[in-house]
Amino acid sequence: MSADYDQLLDATITYFEQLKAQGTRYVPVLPETLAGLSRAAASLPQIRSQPGTPAPVTATSAKASAVLMDGVAVVPKLPPVFSPTLTLTSAAPLTPGTPLSLDAKTQAIAELRERAMVCVKCPNLVASRKNVVFGVGDISSQIMFVGEAPGAEEDEQGEPFIGAAGQLLTKIIQTMGLSRQTVYIANILKCRPDTPGQTFGNRKPTPDEMKTCVPYLHAQVDLIQPKVLVALGSTAIEGLLSKPAYITKIRGQWHTYRGIPLMPTFHPSYLLRTEALQDKRRVWEDMLQVMEKVGLPVSDKQRGYFLKG
Ligand code: SF4
Repeated sequence: MSADYDQLLDATITYFEQLKAQGTRYVPVLPETLAGLSRAAASLPQIRSQPGTPAPVTATSAKASAVLMDGVAVVPKLPPVFSPTLTLTSAAPLTPGTPLSLDAKTQAIAELRERAMVCVKCPNLVASRKNVVFGVGDISSQIMFVGEAPGAEEDEQGEPFIGAAGQLLTKIIQTMGLSRQTVYIANILKCRPDTPGQTFGNRKPTPDEMKTCVPYLHAQVDLIQPKVLVALGSTAIEGLLSKPAYITKIRGQWHTYRGIPLMPTFHPSYLLRTEALQDKRRVWEDMLQVMEKVGLPVSDKQRGYFLKG
């Protein structure tokens, strides 16, 4: 049993090392497979604790990340909230800026999406949601827009920013010379906040809901690796920076999130409610800064929007 197990383990490690050498950083693992690995790993300290052998495999939880470290598969401690990805790397967390091949990125995003689509961490939201709204757009985009949470239409269709505010965001993106397909759009919260007793309207996500869900966004940002993040509204910036934020005070000023320049600006729904032309201009000035940061050309016409009227 011990020799067979060692042989199997060595073959598995060799296979993972080959994948890693080819640039693979993530592998999808079924929960039952991970549970089986954890059960098997529990007996390994007796098997592999002889002097001169590699470090033993340790197990904590079926939800923990599987990490290939120094040629030995280990199951590390569960992160503070949870790990939305399985990581295959000698450095456990994927640090922003680590180059990823498109294949590896596509694979990891697909696996992350699969996890989000069946996530049941917020029972009240699971009971009321129609769809999990993961994110949409180009996973190689230089620009990633982050909102707060899906509304009724987004929940219905499973895509972020498709209601009236979403249509305005789409216009802003197009005015920048881009399209929804060439940027990436996601929310802090992937499920629509429930509104018990109400048949319409939305509510702001609670701090606990945002804290529970934001690891998915962390992982999306780490995988997509945009050059710039745009936070839309106070709730988005609060969710990203984990502290209260007043959008009127901080919009237009660069911040940093996971090593990436972050531009806070007004939420499009605010622009729909306000008549103030200067606030539309302020959002546009923020977008001009974003365009300059990523090296997009800015025409005189674009520079002049909302200066008259
Ligand atoms: S809001 Fe996020 S953490 Fe909560 S159930 Fe939905 S996907 Fe899971």
